[in-house]
Amino acid sequence: MESAKEEVDTKIKVMFLPFASTSHIIPMVDIARLFAMHGVDVTIIATPVAASLFQSSVGRDSSLGRSIRTHVVKFPAAEVGLPVGVETFNADTAPDMLPKIGKGLNLLEKEIENLFEELEADCIVTDMFYPWTVDAAARLGIPRLILLAGSCFAHSALHSVKTYAPHKDIKSDSTDDKFSLPGLPHRLKMTPLQLPDWLREPNGYTHLMEMIRDSERRSYGSVFDSFYELEGEYLDHYKKAMGTKSWSLGPVSMWANQDAADKAGRGQAKLEQKGKEEEDSGCLKWLHSKPENSVLYVSFGSMSKFPSLQLVEIAQALEDSGHDFMWVVKKKDGEDGSFLEEFEKRVKASNKGYLIWGWAPQLLILENPAIGGIVTHCGWNTVMESVNAGLAMATWPMFAEQFFNEKLLVDALKIGVAVGVKEWRKWQQFGEEVVKKDQIAKAIALLMGNGEESVEMRRRARELSDAAKRAIKFGGSSHTNLLQLIQELESLKLDRINGK
Ligand code: UDP
Repeated sequence: MESAKEEVDTKIKVMFLPFASTSHIIPMVDIARLFAMHGVDVTIIATPVAASLFQSSVGRDSSLGRSIRTHVVKFPAAEVGLPVGVETFNADTAPDMLPKIGKGLNLLEKEIENLFEELEADCIVTDMFYPWTVDAAARLGIPRLILLAGSCFAHSALHSVKTYAPHKDIKSDSTDDKFSLPGLPHRLKMTPLQLPDWLREPNGYTHLMEMIRDSERRSYGSVFDSFYELEGEYLDHYKKAMGTKSWSLGPVSMWANQDAADKAGRGQAKLEQKGKEEEDSGCLKWLHSKPENSVLYVSFGSMSKFPSLQLVEIAQALEDSGHDFMWVVKKKDGEDGSFLEEFEKRVKASNKGYLIWGWAPQLLILENPAIGGIVTHCGWNTVMESVNAGLAMATWPMFAEQFFNEKLLVDALKIGVAVGVKEWRKWQQFGEEVVKKDQIAKAIALLMGNGEESVEMRRRARELSDAAKRAIKFGGSSHTNLLQLIQELESLKLDRINGK
């Protein structure tokens, strides 16, 4: 009796709070599910639209006997002047809605803090974009773990630029003059224009990023979707530079989504999934008809839609490349799509290409043996999923920390070939730069080619894929980290109960 009671007492309750955008929700939910798979009592707090993106996986886990559930909080749409259902950030979010969504999320802070208390959280794991949660955790006397989106490399590089401001040494506006990133394990160079604008010169976002950094320092520790064999030097470096604890727990996509239904439905609402089942199986059937490593996959994540001018360049480069391709197209509303319609008819007739309009079942596509490489915007989820699948990448960074991820892939790990994008830009803004078809074609040729450089790059990517698979097995680096983290949280709970 006594020992059963002790068992109940040490089981920890952990609440997860993902940020309201698909690519932040996806890894947070995967991590929450991993905690539940390892005996933790898990609650994920989300607004209705966010919850609809992952509810089926959570339901499946719960029916397998895992202690996991979603707690839905109503989004205050009317209070902030938004139509019902607009509460997350993604490629379809209109720019004028962004501040209102932000305001709505702020209005939920008190309710969520009360939930942490009512549901008796022993620990909270919250997105980096909720710095306020570190104070909530302090008030409740429980640890807060911060989920840092992106690579540990990117956070190390950010830290280097913040600390040393090396870009200030470059006085010209030239897109060729480079500075080195001081203090990092590799000697890597970038141009000032590849840095986020808020890092070049302070703006409103700089303040938010400082709040995030401050909250990170005051958190119990940080977690990354990464693994030691991928960027161990940076995981060590970052711990030292920040003076904080951190755990790499990835690749979470592969670890948490072992069931085909989880892979197929990841990141999309159940209703949408229903209509898309046929289309998804169409794209997978098409891949099955193709030889191994022959198809190039092209995707720019969940947040971006290119203007027509850029889509035309991509289409021409793909058609000229001679390789079979699968392209996830997200077109801006109101722009002329006739060129793409003609293009789609042509490549369908020649059986050279497959266009997916909207949401693609990316995990299933990447693991298909027909895929031989990917053109990516270097969003970290996609990078981790591609590494996991053993794919080399043509890198086309756009916003957020994506230019840093490109450096990691191309210069440090040497599993990427840069398309050659010169300028960072704000999310949803496309600026002046149009990446030309010749530039794109050159990167594709190197990525998919048979020269020594290409073969070596793909060999390294496959090696990392093997390492990724080992990392999440019993005794592997991420597996050990997760067990150790859970144990540490359990002993913190015991200390709290015992008044230590
Ligand atoms: N994704 C997907 N289908 C799509 C587009 C994206 O499944 O059509 C998933 C992708 O697998 C990844 C996430 O959405 O997990 C995108 O995150 P990432 O960090 O790569 O880029 P972001 O969306 O933040 O730009």
